[in-house]
Amino acid sequence: MQNNRVWQRACGLTGTVVEGVHIDDKTNAIIVSVRPDARARNRCGRCGRRSPGYDRGAGRRRWRGLDAGTTKVFIEAEAQRVQCRLHGPTVARVPWARHGVGHTRDFDAMAAWLTVRTSKSATCQLLRVAWRTIGSIITRVNDDVEATVDRLEGLRRIGIDEISYKRGHRYLIVVVDHDTGRLVWAGPGRSESALNVFFDELGEQRAAEITHVSADMADWIAKTVACRAPNAIRCADPFHVVAWAIEALDIERRRAWNQASGRRVSASTGRRGRTTGNSRQIARSRYALWKNPNDLNGRQRQQLDWIAKTDPKLWRAYLLKEGLRYVFAVKGEEGKEALDRWLSWARRSRLPSFVVLANRITKHRQAIDANLEHGLSQGLIESTNTKIRLLTRIAFGFHGPQPLIALALLALGSHPPQLPGRT
Ligand SMILES: [Zn+2]
Repeated sequence: MQNNRVWQRACGLTGTVVEGVHIDDKTNAIIVSVRPDARARNRCGRCGRRSPGYDRGAGRRRWRGLDAGTTKVFIEAEAQRVQCRLHGPTVARVPWARHGVGHTRDFDAMAAWLTVRTSKSATCQLLRVAWRTIGSIITRVNDDVEATVDRLEGLRRIGIDEISYKRGHRYLIVVVDHDTGRLVWAGPGRSESALNVFFDELGEQRAAEITHVSADMADWIAKTVACRAPNAIRCADPFHVVAWAIEALDIERRRAWNQASGRRVSASTGRRGRTTGNSRQIARSRYALWKNPNDLNGRQRQQLDWIAKTDPKLWRAYLLKEGLRYVFAVKGEEGKEALDRWLSWARRSRLPSFVVLANRITKHRQAIDANLEHGLSQGLIESTNTKIRLLTRIAFGFHGPQPLIALALLALGSHPPQLPGRT
């Protein structure tokens, strides 16, 4: 009897009576035999309603629990069925596990915590489970959070972004709260109907309370937001506008590379261009050109100096990219004036990609000005985007988009996973 109480405590079991403990020689695991106590028994597994017994169901079954030292532990009990008024014959609820799964709640909690905090291989090796199993576990842990908290409550200023995964073949829409910095929603797709799922969950009343929406300038986002959040001011995300400038800069970089390696000549003569020292330099300077100046290392600084001296056109393109970043750094009226100056500079730059960019920015000027006026935090969309990109790599091997969505919400949302047994 004393022994059983120790095991009850060791396994963190509540509402549960331990009947005995033994070692299963076949699996070399500790088997803790239990039953729900008088208050916990005879409840429907789906709704928890107290119900009369129906039958013995599939007999005894086991749930994987947290290890005891180095040894696997299984909780074993009868999986009786009850006759629920609502759900009919249903396997009875057990206090130690979620309905219809093979791991205990504590195991699930530990798995979710490790997945968010450590690496994929650490999680799998420590818990001795397959990565796909982890995908199912974090999905149900997140479902439980969703059932108890409303992440969409009190939203005023939100950011909407789309992120590609599976080598750019699949997309997620993510919604962040600019006031808390949290991820509040994620769903599969990149279309009006996919974004409408978010607004359906939000509901008309709460959507009307949204004051600002920042997003990239995709038409489908603009259309949906105008229709579903009628009172919101639409702001351009500086992160995406600066990304346009990086694209334009990259066109110039490729032009410079082609010139340096004699590609144009080769097109007319039919001969392949030679890789010259200059073209190699340009190819290597790619990251130096993209990065923010503050993040450059010594070698990258030298690469930029070299471009400044040898390729005035590419250097001009670089300065234009940095000039656009400056516009968003100063914000407000000063930012708008800086943007006016930037636009005339870009139009006169004789760099075709930046002339096109100037037109694109002019087309979206209203939304860009709205951002400069309302100063929605610049870094949030960018950092969320970067973090979810990392998570998509971790989520590789999960089945379908739901585990990735659960992982993103648990990692970046307001309710991170908690370790079991802590109060
Ligand atoms: Zn029920």
